[in-house]
Amino acid sequence: MQLNEIETYVLGLLPKLGINKQRELVRLVYEIAKREDVPLAEILPFEKNLNFESAKKRLLARRYPVNFKTARKDQFYLPKLELDSTQEADLTPRPFSPKTIYIETSVKDTPLAQRVRAAFAQADFKETDGKTQVGSPHFSKRLDTLLIHREKYDFLKPCPCSCGSAGCGYNLVNLGFGCRFECEYCFLQQYQNLHAVLLPANVEEFLAKIDGAKFRAGLFDRPRIGSGEFTDSLVFDDLTQYSAQIVPFFRARPHLQFEFKTKSTNIGGLLAAGGCENVVAAWSVNAGPITQDVEHFTPNLTARLQAACEVARAGYRLGFHFDPVVIYEGYQQDYARTVQEMADTLPHNKIAWISVGTLRFSRELKKRIEMRFTKNRILDGEFLLDFDGKMRYSQAQRIEAYQFLVPLLRRTFPHAVVYLCMEDPAVASKI
Ligand code: SF4
Repeated sequence: MQLNEIETYVLGLLPKLGINKQRELVRLVYEIAKREDVPLAEILPFEKNLNFESAKKRLLARRYPVNFKTARKDQFYLPKLELDSTQEADLTPRPFSPKTIYIETSVKDTPLAQRVRAAFAQADFKETDGKTQVGSPHFSKRLDTLLIHREKYDFLKPCPCSCGSAGCGYNLVNLGFGCRFECEYCFLQQYQNLHAVLLPANVEEFLAKIDGAKFRAGLFDRPRIGSGEFTDSLVFDDLTQYSAQIVPFFRARPHLQFEFKTKSTNIGGLLAAGGCENVVAAWSVNAGPITQDVEHFTPNLTARLQAACEVARAGYRLGFHFDPVVIYEGYQQDYARTVQEMADTLPHNKIAWISVGTLRFSRELKKRIEMRFTKNRILDGEFLLDFDGKMRYSQAQRIEAYQFLVPLLRRTFPHAVVYLCMEDPAVASKI
C-alpha cells in the first residue's frame, strides 16, 4: 500500500482537511486497510455530510473495536504515517560474517581479538583508538561491522524497568550491543544508534564491579544479575566465550545468581564451563506463530527446549520469559500449546523462574517496526498510550491475558517463581 494512494483517498473524501487532520485520518485508514486487508474504497463508505469529526469517530470505532468506548481520547496515538521502502528489514538468511572489523588498540592482544581475527580472516581489519565513528547508516546493515572494544563506563546497573512499573530488582551487565536475530518487536531497532555489533573484551572489569556492589533479592532467593539487555546473551558466545569467565566467577559466589537470557541454542560454552547451580540459562519463549513469523532467524521452540534440557542435565537451572505475549485471535490456545510442550519436555524442578509480559513499545519504536516490517501483524493489536508513555494493550486486555497465562504457569510449574515484567502495579495487583 502506497502512502500517496491513501492520501489521495482521504483528500478525495474530505478535500479541505488541514494537515494535522489529514494526517490522523491517513493513519487510521492505513491501519484499518492493513489489519483487515480490505481495499481503501471499503473503509469509509459514502455518507452524506461526512466531516472530519464523523470520519474520525467511524474510523476509530473500526480500528479499536474492543477499546473504542472505554479508552480515553488521548490514548489513541495517531502520528504521521511514514513509509520508506529503503528502511525495510533484510530477511535473507545469512551467516554472521562482518565485512569490517574494528579492534581498539587497548584490546588488540586479548584472546577475544585473536579469536575474531581467526574466525573472520577475510574481513577488513582496522585498528582504532576508540574515537572513530563506526557502523552503517542503516540498522539493517549492522552485522557488516564488528567492534571489539574496551568498555569504560557502562558495567553494571539496576534494570531500568519502566517508569512506574512494579520492578523485580534485576541487575544488568551490558555484555555486548547488537544482535544477529531479527525480532520484529526488538527495541534495538529504535534504540541502537551505532549500527554495528559491539563486543567488549574486558569482561573481568565487569565482573570486578560485582564484588563491591550492593544488591537486593526482591522476589527471589538471591539477587539476580544478568546480561542480554542490548543483545542476546548467548548468540555470540562461541566467539566471545564470556560464559567461560562468568560461570566460574559465579560458582565462587553462591550468594548471587547470574542469568544468560537467550533465544539461541549456542550452548557449547555453557556445557564446556560445567554446570553451576546459581547460573540460570533462560530462554524467551512464545506462541508458535509468533516464533515462526515474528522472531526471524531464531531457533523454534522445540530446539530452544532441547537446548534447555541439555544445560539442565549439565547442572544449570533454567528460566523462561513469555515476553512479549502477543494478543490475537486464538492466542490463548497457542500459548497453552507452548506451556504444554514445556511441561512435556523440561525437568520441572530445574526451573527457577518464569516471567510474563505483554507486548509494549515506545512511540518511536512503533514507527520503526512499521517501516522495517511493512507486513507485520503485531501492530494490528489495539495499542493505547499507557501509564508510562509506552504503547500497550488496554488494562482489561492485559489483565485477561495474565489471568489466563499466570495461573496456568503456576499450576504447571509450582516450584518456579512466576512474575510479571514491566507492568503497571494496578494491573499486577489483579493477578
Ligand atoms: S533476540 Fe532479543 S536482542 Fe536479538 S533481535 Fe530478538 S529481541 Fe532483539
